[in-house]
Amino acid sequence: MPPLPNKYLSTLVDNPVDIFGCFLMSTTDVWKKCLEAVKGQIPSQHFNTWFKPINVAGINETSLELEVPNRFFLEWLKDHYLPLIQETITKVSQREYSIIWRIGKVAARRTSAAAPASPSQVTAVAERVLTNTGLNPYYTFENFVVGKDNQLAHAACIAVANQFSNKYNPLFVYGGVGLGKTHLLQAIGQRVLQKTNSTKICYYTSEGFMNEFVGAMQRGKMDDFRNKFRRTDLLLIDDVQFWSGGKGRTQEEFFHTFNALYEAHKQIVITSDKYPKDLDGLEERLRSRFEMGLIVDIQPPDMETKMAILRKKAALESITLPDDVTHFLASLGSSNIRELEGYLANIIAQSSLGGKEITLSMVKDTLKNRVKDNTTKTVTVDKVQKAVASFFNISVADLKSKRRLQAIVVPRQIAMYLARECCNSSFPEIGTFFGNKDHSTVIHAVNKVKKMVEKDPEQQRVVRSIKDLLNK
Ligand code: ADP
Ligand code: MG
Repeated sequence: MPPLPNKYLSTLVDNPVDIFGCFLMSTTDVWKKCLEAVKGQIPSQHFNTWFKPINVAGINETSLELEVPNRFFLEWLKDHYLPLIQETITKVSQREYSIIWRIGKVAARRTSAAAPASPSQVTAVAERVLTNTGLNPYYTFENFVVGKDNQLAHAACIAVANQFSNKYNPLFVYGGVGLGKTHLLQAIGQRVLQKTNSTKICYYTSEGFMNEFVGAMQRGKMDDFRNKFRRTDLLLIDDVQFWSGGKGRTQEEFFHTFNALYEAHKQIVITSDKYPKDLDGLEERLRSRFEMGLIVDIQPPDMETKMAILRKKAALESITLPDDVTHFLASLGSSNIRELEGYLANIIAQSSLGGKEITLSMVKDTLKNRVKDNTTKTVTVDKVQKAVASFFNISVADLKSKRRLQAIVVPRQIAMYLARECCNSSFPEIGTFFGNKDHSTVIHAVNKVKKMVEKDPEQQRVVRSIKDLLNK
């Protein structure tokens, strides 16, 4: 049956209507039908775990509001079943609904280990509505845990959110995957939104910017595109490393957008997983723009920060984690907070849906297929230096020295490369481990070894052998 024209559908409320012999579904039936259809398509255990707890919070002709127990549940559901949900809704209703997700009102079963939620927590959670507006309301400064690893980046973002500044224009935040760059970037947007609703904010991933640019070109709407960006007061661009592989016309367009905003004293904040100099394939003129303001990095979190983040995430779901559980999770060896969140999601799902108390043994059991064990090795720059020195039969002091002997220079460069690869450290930090070398020396070394390894199988073997040493 083809989709029905809107004029007929607009008359639909809650009663089934028969127009031209077509039976139209009551809006409240949509979700029920969707569940029936989904039930036959996925294992029943998955259905019970992930679909039964969903409630319909509201529905109108264009949107369906669905309520889920917590954010972790939602993220899991979106990762695994969003396309199925969308397709099924369209199929059973013969029309497109946009889905609005709500979190919190569904009474999830709590364990005895869970602390009773304070009223403010409940309201805060209930009010967290995730929409498709681009900014995730969860990514606020209030929800961000400050540790010594992200302190500077956090302070710079707060400063910019409080007052746009020429000194910090652009603000360039860089750091490894899952360390909180997007969270901080969006927190700036949220804070500015809270303060005023007249400030025009644009949040884009670099990929989103490119897609919009390409789309505008194809539709011959470049003027609209330019006007939109150039009317912006605060431009937040996430993950510019995406442009490193070329994307020349996008870079050029962004360069002009950047200049127009900069000259008009509008604030620009950019994130990247690399320092500007290390963004291969980025146009020089854009790179130099990125270096005009303030560059801050986020370091991988230490144990203390990871534990604080885990506690915060759990508290946001009104759950108190036992200390041994927090410690176990933080010591799993991952510095990627998103990965830690994944573990927590799993545990919370098991606990609230399976009615299990969160204990250390329950957690180990839940995660047994996802993590090796808590002896997972963390590789430090120190360990890298020892492994490289022993492999080449030189001393760690040689690696840290200024000696220019080829027999020392090459191992030093390999050690810097491995420190970058295995320890998730920033270039300036690696420099300090090697007798306070400048970050540009580190960047040069890392790039050189990267190329060497790509071209030369013998060097590849050397690097692999040292990595084996590191993992022993
Ligand atoms: P990145 O953009 O650097 O890859 P994200 O900003 O997406 O990382 O962070 C990954 C996840 O980790 C997000 O859910 C974010 O909320 C969380 N996170 C990272 N750092 C912190 C922190 N310091 N406090 C609270 N949550 C954090
Ligand atoms: Mg990100």
